[in-house]
Amino acid sequence: MNYKALPKIDLHCHLDGSARPETLRELAVERNLQVADIESLRSSLIAPESCPSLDEYLKRFELAVQVMQDKASLERIAYEIFEDASYENVKYLEVRFGPLLHMNKGLNLDEIISSVLKGMNDAKEKYDIEGGIIIAALRTMPTDRLDDLIETGSKYLDKGLVGFDLASSEVAGFCDTFKPFVEKAKALGYKITIHAGETGVGKNVFDAVTIGADRIGHGIHIHSHQKAFDIVKKHKIVLETCPSSNVQTKAVTSMENHPIKDFMDAGILVTINTDNRTVSNTSMTKEVKRVMETFNLDLSDYHKIYEYSVQAAFTSDEIKEKLLAYIR
Ligand SMILES: [Zn+2]
Repeated sequence: MNYKALPKIDLHCHLDGSARPETLRELAVERNLQVADIESLRSSLIAPESCPSLDEYLKRFELAVQVMQDKASLERIAYEIFEDASYENVKYLEVRFGPLLHMNKGLNLDEIISSVLKGMNDAKEKYDIEGGIIIAALRTMPTDRLDDLIETGSKYLDKGLVGFDLASSEVAGFCDTFKPFVEKAKALGYKITIHAGETGVGKNVFDAVTIGADRIGHGIHIHSHQKAFDIVKKHKIVLETCPSSNVQTKAVTSMENHPIKDFMDAGILVTINTDNRTVSNTSMTKEVKRVMETFNLDLSDYHKIYEYSVQAAFTSDEIKEKLLAYIR
């Protein structure tokens, strides 16, 4: 099968984990940062096949965050991710990022969000790709700026910003802290996706759906929590699974043990996504190939997954129709 030629949709892709190593190096040099040669840099950005923990995995984002502190770098990296995705026939891409991480050198939230949107919108104009931007609250950061983030972001909801996410390290019961922010974002018109059930706590998925998640990032641990499994199935909540990343972060022990196929068989709506094109050393082509070959999926299985992605995309019916036309 020509996996590259298949139309693809990526609903779960992080901006800072998907920057080209070459670009990061160039930006670092321009900013007088100490940086290794490209080969060493590349290997230091890629998380090992089995990383000791999710937190160890998250360390790979440090250089990207360090250089993405001005408008030009944010815009460029956003542009290049859409460009790279279009080259492998990704027809629709949602990129997420935590704007609060990019304020270290004085940028304000408007500048940060509008730069990323500009990068995406310029790429959308040039290439055959649709998509949107999701802003994320990082659970490891204080919550005192989240009202400002959500309010500022809401001004861009008709300009390509489409959703709100809770990301980074996952502890049991995190939804209690973030419920008011999720409710506020939802009331302002954001679609909601929440990283939950990624590294062990199935109940977090139940809580995330209860506080208003439209989709779940990962969600693979619903297999260990019946109530979470049931609510996801009953409400047809789409799971954004990221197979290679799940192996790297030890969320699953191996690709063969990934629950994606069991979920499909049980009627759970699963999708295939990259998570981090650079840190997970992947692309949509690689993820789709890995999943289809590991679980012996045929084209009609793949089309089902693609349709779930269309269904769950934070976009208009018009764009959804356009995306469905690629597989008809
Ligand atoms: Zn993620």
